Amino acid sequence: MSRFHLFLSCTCLINSLLMFHIDVFEQLHREKQNHFDKKSVSANAVSKPFRTPSADREPIVLISSLRAWYPGKQQTTTSTPVKMAEPVRVCVTGAAGQIGYSLVYMVGSGAVFGPDTPVILHLLDITPMMGVLNGVCMEISDCALPCVRDVIPTDDPAVAFKDIDAAFLVGAMPRKEGMERKDLLAANVKIFKVQGQALDQHAKKSVKVLVVGNPANTNALICAKYAPSIPRENFSAMTRLDQNRAQAQIANRLGIPITDVKNVIIWGNHSSTQFPDVRHGTATINGQGVPIFDAIKDDAWLKGEFITTVQKRGGAVIAARKLSSAMSAAKAACDHMQSIWQGTPNGTFVSMGVFSDGSYNTPEGVMYSFPVTIKDKKWTIVKDLPIDDFSREKMDLSAKELCEERDDAIAACQG
Ligand code: NAD
Repeated sequence: MSRFHLFLSCTCLINSLLMFHIDVFEQLHREKQNHFDKKSVSANAVSKPFRTPSADREPIVLISSLRAWYPGKQQTTTSTPVKMAEPVRVCVTGAAGQIGYSLVYMVGSGAVFGPDTPVILHLLDITPMMGVLNGVCMEISDCALPCVRDVIPTDDPAVAFKDIDAAFLVGAMPRKEGMERKDLLAANVKIFKVQGQALDQHAKKSVKVLVVGNPANTNALICAKYAPSIPRENFSAMTRLDQNRAQAQIANRLGIPITDVKNVIIWGNHSSTQFPDVRHGTATINGQGVPIFDAIKDDAWLKGEFITTVQKRGGAVIAARKLSSAMSAAKAACDHMQSIWQGTPNGTFVSMGVFSDGSYNTPEGVMYSFPVTIKDKKWTIVKDLPIDDFSREKMDLSAKELCEERDDAIAACQG
């Protein structure tokens, strides 16, 4: 090759590289400008009384932008960015608390709504906890999570619920010394009455609301009651932690992976009257799905110690940790919301507290935990599972408790 040709080739190469860089930087600039324009619109639409400094959030925006472009950008000649999914607005209440601390990380990591779905986190807590919440926001920023588009910390439910797609209602008053269960219920259902009213006014009508704060089933019922414009099917209460605990007990006993235990049911209330039921579940042994009773071969354990271990697991964790379950509760909340968002695999059901339609002779209208399948973000109660006398008695006991809680809660809200 002559010197002239060599010079010409080098010039062309440098030129192409320069064009590529200009192309990329132009796109970065455009995307950033776009983001700021959108931000100023949303800043007018939503008052943000308590925000992390915007400088803290900048790297997150750039990482999201880079993720949006680079995976599909093999050719440097076109300037069409790869389209990312629309951001999902997710509210976490009690975000300064211990479940919130694990939960916001899991949601921000993409574990719930998908690794390619950006999330805007609306974090609600009470006014005295705003300093702590600021620390949580600093840590979210420091996690440099590619899915996190924005963080909106606030003590105002109107801001927290504005246009949200999903809500994890975790925040609740803890039991104080000398407080009766009834007093705690009265205090907490009033919180969920106020939050139901705020959801009704500010959230999208398609919002999916998961209630974690206790008494979860009855709080969910009250929340839905005070949000009449949102379909009541959009509200559910968390019994997934109990399901996970039950599955783990079975997997540990059989020495098999947790993924090989399926269709364990939690019936009733998220309380000590819940009934963990493995009668309809299977364990995979040597590649075959075997009924759990046949796999365990110890009916006395399954009808005794197994049930009480699951029912009392929360207390056992408190005794050991001197704090209540938080990491496992956050994981269960993510599992629950992920099941709603992504659906349940064929042949698999999960447990959640949903409005009873009278299935299995349960009292209509209470939030009873049933086995459900989920498709297109809609749950359906699994019907016609055979119920023996042993199960019937336990299911009725939990139903009775839920009816009492409902009556006390309605009285507390009206009083
Ligand atoms: P925590 O005390 O560490 O945190 C609760 C947070 O909620 C606190 O930051 C508090 O300030 C906040 N809060 C209180 N009132 C609020 C309100 N009106 N609005 C917004 N935030 C408010 O408690 P935690 O360990 O995170 O547990 C939270 C709740 O979850 C408790 O009620 C607990 O019993 C319940 N829980 C449920 C399950 C379940 O399986 N359903 C499992 C574990 C815990």
